[in-house]
Amino acid sequence: MKSYILGGGITGLVAGFYTGWPVIARRVGGQLSRGFPLGPKYIYANSFNQELLEQLGIDTSTTVVKVGYFYRGRFVKPSKQLQEAYSKKTRGTVISGAMSGMLEEFAAFTVDPTIVVECLADECDIIQDQIISIDLEERVMYGLHDIYEYDLLVSTIPLPEFMELTGIRCSKLAWRSILFVAAECSSDLIWDNDYDYICFPGDEPFYRITKLAPPNVVYEFSVNPGYKVSIDYLPDTIPTDYYLLRYGKIVDKIPIINGARYGVKLLGRYGSWNPRMMLHHVIREVKSWID
Ligand SMILES: Cc1cc2nc3c(=O)[nH]c(=O)nc-3n(C[C@H](O)[C@H](O)[C@H](O)COP(=O)(O)OP(=O)(O)OC[C@H]3O[C@@H](n4cnc5c(N)ncnc54)[C@H](O)[C@@H]3O)c2cc1C
Repeated sequence: MKSYILGGGITGLVAGFYTGWPVIARRVGGQLSRGFPLGPKYIYANSFNQELLEQLGIDTSTTVVKVGYFYRGRFVKPSKQLQEAYSKKTRGTVISGAMSGMLEEFAAFTVDPTIVVECLADECDIIQDQIISIDLEERVMYGLHDIYEYDLLVSTIPLPEFMELTGIRCSKLAWRSILFVAAECSSDLIWDNDYDYICFPGDEPFYRITKLAPPNVVYEFSVNPGYKVSIDYLPDTIPTDYYLLRYGKIVDKIPIINGARYGVKLLGRYGSWNPRMMLHHVIREVKSWID
């Protein structure tokens, strides 16, 4: 049986690591390997992630990540109402249950996720190619460099992109793009506290600021109609770079293809279009295929 994994982000690499199936990647690393870190990136401390790190020979020390909520000029405890306001600001809608952006703190491994990506890539069979079309009925992928016939295809690329490759029109998927602005910032508001990142559910044009090594920060803006993009709010801030992530915030999670019929498995937060999917969910799912 010929199986391929499509997409070389952390999801595709984890799938390639556990299954040994070839990973077709336009670019290894995906979202985790941009020019500057796109907001907070943590590998949560739990048994699935710990086992992966151990298998890769990576140190499993942990740290507590602290999340601040800033509203109407002061730091506050995140009430349910504020969490809903935050969700509306980022996605235009409230999604049920707690998301990681709504926790006050959580335990995470100290390792930089880009190191995990590099270690995984070393262990995977990677085919450097970009898929430009997929024939679902015939189970064939057409790449820029080669043609790939498959029995099973694991897609980890953003679902709207996958649907585009198959030629199936798909108007049901909705998302909000995220604009990330890297900046140097010496404002006391940012540095006079021990939060690792700060959420802004109120009127500020951005919804989150992540602290990197001082004085570097990353602003995140939800590209919503009606919200302006401006970092003038904080004094002493100089923008240095920016990046637009098209499929940034997933607004719905409607399953749109019957994968089993076509020999397709959808995996990962953007691949399966599930805003709650984290690394340990990916590991759990992949391990269930090989057990
Ligand atoms: C601001 C922000 C913060 C986050 N923080 C966390 C966090 O703290 N912890 C956490 O677990 N998750 C976090 N996430 C989610 C996390 O970033 C993603 O779940 C994860 O990095 C996505 O990896 P992925 O492999 O699923 O997708 P991607 O990284 O998007 O990888 C998809 C890959 O597919 C490739 N590709 C696309 N089209 C094609 C094609 N046609 N042919 C070949 N290859 C193709 C791309 O080049 C890319 O390499 C965060 C997300 C955001 C936006």
